[in-house]
Amino acid sequence: MSETFRNYINGEWVDGPTFENRNPANTDEVVGLFVKGSAADMETAVAAAEAAFPAWSNTPGPARGALLFKVADILDRKFEAIAADMTREEGKTLPEAKGEVRRAINIFRYFGSEGSRLPGHLVPSERDRVHMFAIRKPIGVVGLITPWNFPIAIPAWKLAPALVCGNTVVIKPASVSPLCAWRIVEACHEAGIPKGVVNFVAGSGATLGAAMVQAKGLKAISFTGSCAVGEWLHTEASKRRLRIQLEMGGKNPTIVLADCDFASAVENVVNAAMFSTGQKCTATSRAIVEDAIYDKFVAAVVERTKKLKVGNGMEAGIDIGPAVDADQLKTNLRYIEIGKKECGAPLCGGNQLTGGAFDKGYFVEPTVFADVKEEHTLAQEEVFGPVLAIMRAKDFADCMRIANNIPFGLSASIQTSSLSRAFDFIYGMEAGLLTVNLPSAGVEYQLPFGGTKDSSFGPKEQGPAAMDFYSDFKTIYLKY
Ligand code: NAP
Repeated sequence: MSETFRNYINGEWVDGPTFENRNPANTDEVVGLFVKGSAADMETAVAAAEAAFPAWSNTPGPARGALLFKVADILDRKFEAIAADMTREEGKTLPEAKGEVRRAINIFRYFGSEGSRLPGHLVPSERDRVHMFAIRKPIGVVGLITPWNFPIAIPAWKLAPALVCGNTVVIKPASVSPLCAWRIVEACHEAGIPKGVVNFVAGSGATLGAAMVQAKGLKAISFTGSCAVGEWLHTEASKRRLRIQLEMGGKNPTIVLADCDFASAVENVVNAAMFSTGQKCTATSRAIVEDAIYDKFVAAVVERTKKLKVGNGMEAGIDIGPAVDADQLKTNLRYIEIGKKECGAPLCGGNQLTGGAFDKGYFVEPTVFADVKEEHTLAQEEVFGPVLAIMRAKDFADCMRIANNIPFGLSASIQTSSLSRAFDFIYGMEAGLLTVNLPSAGVEYQLPFGGTKDSSFGPKEQGPAAMDFYSDFKTIYLKY
């Protein structure tokens, strides 16, 4: 009998009809049943958050921060179990899941300590005996909509800064991986965060998203997910002048120059393209390689990719888990077929994995296409699967031109031993997150996170920048 996970509205666990959350590595396993929230539930949740706002926003920042530390401690106590939940609901390997749970805990501690800072501004006035300063104030009820691929880190990096700034929230998690966000909400309940401050409503994105954006008391939305949904939300939110923050898709390049540390460049590209089944918004999906080492690099990437072990992420030694669900598997296979037509046969992979335990999940071979041209679909559209397009470039300038020739601008990487090239890349690359001699994926929480161009809209998430979305300045001039 599967456990039922109820919605959390105004401090109460709320029942209703349910939907299933299944393990993508073994679809026989139901991870849990989740209550399918209605539009009315969303309205009630926003109203509860609105009612809780005056008291929470007037709670001293250090006291709010102390509650976030408690949430972190509770998550820490359940660390192993939550990581296993994540592998079972999302499919990523257990070590990857543990890394993500650790990050969520660190995020709660990082923003918990912000409760004692909440930095404002104090500057000297031009006028005699005038004291002028600006303080941070919360904005009100914030709606948080999260995707499935980082099911605990993304809810954590929205929820923690929202709460510490004094806002109240309604979180709507992705339907294919709601359990990890539910675990955070459970921890908020256990920690004693007052009723109505945190509300959780799972269910259909279309229904709940429409209800959220229309809900009377809502003041802001922070969304991470696809460009299509983000654009729709932006249009609707703008009609009401809601504050909005969107983090969306990418088509991230890694530039590989002839002067790179070859072995580490191969490792970084394969890691960023394939790990987490390519389901990271910061994954490398284009490797743009200087002509002088192109053939050698392609051969080495293919050799390394063929060694990756695909399977159930709960098992030791597995590198790559399944696609998150049947739809994502279908998307991966569709793009692989497009790749075969436009770019020729892949140099490795290219098929769904079948037979034995594979038949119970959504497994696809890590796939590498070479000689991909800028006009090819695989060079332009996000797959969100373990599919790498390798592209040949004449020289560094050509690498940069190709890398920037897309509508997206989330993350980008360069592999080089030249300091000058690294800085040319840093100043010339159109992306919000850059790495040098590291994989394009794998960011920390202490600095701003987010992209540019079609990948993102609004203030950045994480680090000190997160506070700017979740608070407003009030400026005071005082004559004494
Ligand atoms: P998605 O389909 O846009 O879903 C994201 C969230 O939006 C889910 O909670 C979903 O609910 C909800 N949703 C769906 N339709 C909605 C609507 N009409 N109104 C409001 N909410 C709605 O995206 P996804 O497939 O989960 O995630 C993959 C995408 O996210 C990729 O493009 C990836 O690059 C991007 N991503 C970006 C970042 C970043 O930081 N830039 C990070 C991670 C992922 P349901 O699950 O119920 O449909």
